[in-house]
Amino acid sequence: MYYASDTLIFSDGEFVTADQVKIDPFSQTLHYGNGVFEGLRAYQTDHGSRIFKAHAHYERFIQAAQTMQLPIDYSVEELVGFSYDLLERNQLGDAYLRPLLYAPANMSLTSTTHHSHLMIGAFQWGKLLGDNLVHLTISPRRKPDPLAFPIEGKICGLYVNNILATTEARAQGFNDALMMDHEGYVVQSAGANLFVEKDEVLYTPPRGNILPGITRETVMEMAREMGIRVVKQPITPEFLYESDAAFLAGTAVEITGIATVDRKPLTYHWEDSLGHLLARKYRQIATHGEPFKWTLI
Ligand code: PMP
Repeated sequence: MYYASDTLIFSDGEFVTADQVKIDPFSQTLHYGNGVFEGLRAYQTDHGSRIFKAHAHYERFIQAAQTMQLPIDYSVEELVGFSYDLLERNQLGDAYLRPLLYAPANMSLTSTTHHSHLMIGAFQWGKLLGDNLVHLTISPRRKPDPLAFPIEGKICGLYVNNILATTEARAQGFNDALMMDHEGYVVQSAGANLFVEKDEVLYTPPRGNILPGITRETVMEMAREMGIRVVKQPITPEFLYESDAAFLAGTAVEITGIATVDRKPLTYHWEDSLGHLLARKYRQIATHGEPFKWTLI
């Protein structure tokens, strides 16, 4: 599904087929989850394939690597260059890119290592939760206290929490889970940030207990440009249940409208919501390539 026999993967400075990538069975990433990853999307534009906000993604990637003390020898520019090269070699226009920085053999519980391994894969991937509105539940699985775990980077091990929440939500017939932080505020879905609309104003949880998404930032930039007020404030389950509309924002889900939360329908039709307007704008921007062209409506 993610690759064919001739798909090329960037692996430690070379472009090779997936079966040529050798991962050490004692890699600390496999055993303990000490690795970092990113998720980027490339869009086919009139100027060829363009990766949306590639620099911001790789800056976050390097920051997360530093947090986990995993050495990374490449600059943001180089990582962006490898990514475009990968798309070209695989003749991909619209694609999802998945860089992963993983650890060598290390069975100890320290991050100390002289090198790490980098792979970047790319494949075609539709919107993660599909093109329809989604039905969500607030998971009993909370996100970890940021004092226990650095949650602002995409660190592999953190995602077992999200896998549990999503798997359990799916088993109950929902599309995905919303998660609360350790204080009981709804902060985001398992893989995307949350925006809630009430009385023509958008609300989104502040930084601190969320992964500060690049799509979230883009939504706030678009909203500013369109004169839509965005308030960063903690969101209680009650506030969400009683909201007019809500949507998820993330690279994999792009902008996905929410139909129901815990089987309670939100008030507005999606087509009448600010989220719908922003989703259209986001598509235009992403498929037009950077820099943003605000003249597009
Ligand atoms: N939260 C989590 C937990 C995520 O994994 C992602 C996807 N990276 C997001 C939010 C959205 O971030 P972005 O918009 O940068 O993709």
